[in-house]
Amino acid sequence: MKIIDGKLISAAVKERVAKSVEQLKEQGVTVGLAVIIVGEDPASKVYVKNKKKACEALGIISEEYALPENTTQKELLDLIHELNNKKSINGILCQLPLPHHLDEKIIINSISPQKDVDAFHPYNVGRIMIGDYDFVPCTPAGIMEMLAYENIEVEGKRCVVIGRSNIVGKPMGMLLLHKNGTVTVCHSKTKDLKDICLQADILVAAVGRPKFVTQDMVREGAVVIDVGIHRTPNGLCGDVDFENVSKKVSVITPVPGGVGPMTIAMLMQNTLTAAKRQNNIDG
Ligand code: NAD
Repeated sequence: MKIIDGKLISAAVKERVAKSVEQLKEQGVTVGLAVIIVGEDPASKVYVKNKKKACEALGIISEEYALPENTTQKELLDLIHELNNKKSINGILCQLPLPHHLDEKIIINSISPQKDVDAFHPYNVGRIMIGDYDFVPCTPAGIMEMLAYENIEVEGKRCVVIGRSNIVGKPMGMLLLHKNGTVTVCHSKTKDLKDICLQADILVAAVGRPKFVTQDMVREGAVVIDVGIHRTPNGLCGDVDFENVSKKVSVITPVPGGVGPMTIAMLMQNTLTAAKRQNNIDG
């Protein structure tokens, strides 16, 4: 059984990005990311801090816009409009969830698709659907990067994704499909979930429930990718009962140290891609 090391793979991605950022600088091109956070959500604050740190380590300019909880929709839209037109900013990210009085859909739609490094804008979602995309949501992108790094072939494999969120489950299913996997996306209304999971060569758990995937749900020798992150009194755990499932599978990702570190690395990668596209640079 192999435990995939997300820290190692994310470090490799970041190194690759840092090198490209350096090369762009030599051509007089800078790479910049704006991160907007509204309100005081403690988890969001940690994510934003980590994103800023990652930018700094990779030579990416980062601008943080920390807005008060009572920011109006117009104020937020005005800021996004300004950033859409700001040349030194290549990527814009608005940390979700937003306070309830703000309409997430309208906010996401207002970000220029060319700067939408989270790939949440309907334009980018559509491009993922047809398999012609620059940006992919960072978590599924990170999982594909892990599979490629570990030489895990997707073509012809039975892939089961548990969860159909717009951020993880759905794009994950599409990316596996583009790699010629045979994909089933399960959700809270799925019947016979265990039987479907038992068919999976590659099982991705993005359920949002601690230790939801148990040993009796996985096939002997399967590849199991755990997207979940849960804080418990005993530390972090994922959507997979790692201790027992790991005894049965061939490959598994741990929590922490699995998918989590990949997400920020892929955000850096998307920001680099945005800068290249905006400056008509291939690659
Ligand atoms: P979500 O709550 O938006 O979606 C959960 C999905 O699971 C839904 O589509 C729902 O239909 C499905 N589901 C719920 N109960 C089910 C059941 N009993 N049987 C089958 N399906 C069921 O969550 P999300 O945003 O997709 O995130 C999923 C998990 O991944 C969360 O734990 C989240 O914290 C974590 N996450 C981690 C990262 C990372 O970087 N590692 C990034 C994003 C999300």
